[in-house]
Amino acid sequence: MADPIARFKNIGGAVVAITEQSGYLDVKHPTEHLVVCSGCGASHRVTWGYDLWHEEQSYGGGLKVDFDSTGREYLPAARKWAQDHAAKCRAL
Ligand SMILES: [Zn+2]
Repeated sequence: MADPIARFKNIGGAVVAITEQSGYLDVKHPTEHLVVCSGCGASHRVTWGYDLWHEEQSYGGGLKVDFDSTGREYLPAARKWAQDHAAKCRAL
């Protein structure tokens, strides 16, 4: 698994970490953020607008126009979920 790009601690010391991952097995580049809590196991995915169907339809001609390949646009949403979860989770 990739190194977390951000992590938050809840009151019990459990870590809520944000990583990047590919949401599709046959896609090599990351397409979403995955937020996982080490305490309770809760997880949340924030996809970056990647659409495999579109890529196939364009015969390799390019990614969907609104796909954010860096995920930067979607990071605030992932951070918000992580922070909100860290604030309310009591797991150790
Ligand atoms: Zn939790």
